[in-house]
Amino acid sequence: MDFNVPAEHQGLMAQVDAFVADRLLPLEQDPASFDEHENIREDLLEVLRGEVKAMGLFSPQMPRERGGLGLGPVGQALLYERMNRSIFGPVCFNCAAPDDGNMSVLSKVATETQKDRWLQPIIDGQVRSSFIMTEPHPGGGSDPGMIQTRAERKGDRWVVHGHKWYITGAGVASHFILIAKTGEGSRDGLTAFAFHKDDPGWQIVRRIPIMGPEEHGGHCELTFDGLEIPDENRLMEVGQGLKLTQIRLGLARLTHCMRWLGLAQRCMEIANAYVAKREGFGIKLADRESVQMQLGRVAMAIDTGRLLTMRAAWRLEQGQKARPDISMAKIQVAETLHLAADTAIQLCGALGYSQDTKLEWIYRYARQARLVDGASEVHQMVISRAYQGAQTKGQDFFAWGLGND
Ligand SMILES: Cc1cc2nc3c(=O)[nH]c(=O)nc-3n(C[C@H](O)[C@H](O)[C@H](O)COP(=O)(O)OP(=O)(O)OC[C@H]3O[C@@H](n4cnc5c(N)ncnc54)[C@H](O)[C@@H]3O)c2cc1C
Repeated sequence: MDFNVPAEHQGLMAQVDAFVADRLLPLEQDPASFDEHENIREDLLEVLRGEVKAMGLFSPQMPRERGGLGLGPVGQALLYERMNRSIFGPVCFNCAAPDDGNMSVLSKVATETQKDRWLQPIIDGQVRSSFIMTEPHPGGGSDPGMIQTRAERKGDRWVVHGHKWYITGAGVASHFILIAKTGEGSRDGLTAFAFHKDDPGWQIVRRIPIMGPEEHGGHCELTFDGLEIPDENRLMEVGQGLKLTQIRLGLARLTHCMRWLGLAQRCMEIANAYVAKREGFGIKLADRESVQMQLGRVAMAIDTGRLLTMRAAWRLEQGQKARPDISMAKIQVAETLHLAADTAIQLCGALGYSQDTKLEWIYRYARQARLVDGASEVHQMVISRAYQGAQTKGQDFFAWGLGND
């Protein structure tokens, strides 16, 4: 068992820390840094991305031969939480959803020709991307087996008709990954495709208003009425759309956890600074046992999430799917982010409810964590299935080391 940070990551962590502290945290304090959807202004983002590129830290999760640093899941876990000490962090390093997950899946499953066309411009920060899966009723949400958007083969092309919604980033994306129905099987009835925003036959119906701050490009509702996709833009084989989704969502869920752990630590940092100064009824808030218990509870929840996240990252790095591990981390960290923001707001009193700190931003953002990339209840189902499956096969679900993939 070795919980030490590998030497090659220590320098990178220090570089990320310095950039977040020196460049991003001051900008967060300036209302002029924000766009109308409470995210960093695009022109400012371009400047900061240029600085990150100059440091050699842009798209660090991508292979070296494509311009990244070849960080595996463990390295990502170490760096992403530090990036997200700032609400602006991940997108400046090109480590934010949905581009992060889209780059990850394209680098794993696309052909070299497809990578040149669809992946490389995202790595270089020239274009943004979206992942299109969720549909309104009676289409697929938690259950991808219900997907109704259909791609029909016509010669060497596929023609798409359907309806999707909550597609993050669609308003600014140029490259899209679409999951559509191409057959009737519950496991092999879906296929994945790439298409470009300028391809005719689809539109954004609306940008759906949400309760929290938005990613660039928002969360959009789309319709498809005859989009034509050449077969060369099909990703993986016909019928492997669910497999592609699982490959994408496994790591994407975990990278959400990595980032959210950084936001949760930021909440503690703000609350701790407040209670260290603020006095009432003759003593500092920080000296009250009830305050210490609240801070201790959040610190423990964060570290529990970090351990679950790191174990899942390590198992992924060993080539495992780590599905129950990722589900456990996702549930734990989503709840922890909410707990950390809520506790910090309470400890900061009126200041916590104001917009003078980033706590209320994080609090509103945090509510989506229990829904996106699988509702917590669905992840509980995944864990339970893995546990029951291990019992049936006589395996030790709680074994250390590699799991029972
Ligand atoms: C901010 C945001 C960004 C998103 N970005 C994207 C995106 O980029 N691309 C994309 O394709 N989708 C995206 N989504 C959609 C997201 O993936 C879905 O919301 C999620 O998969 C759940 O699907 P649903 O909303 O249809 O909920 P439903 O499937 O309708 O489920 C509703 C609720 O029912 C309960 N439930 C469902 N299944 C079970 C079960 N098996 N056991 C117990 N309870 C259950 C849960 O409480 C769940 O929250 C985004 C959503 C949000 C909120």
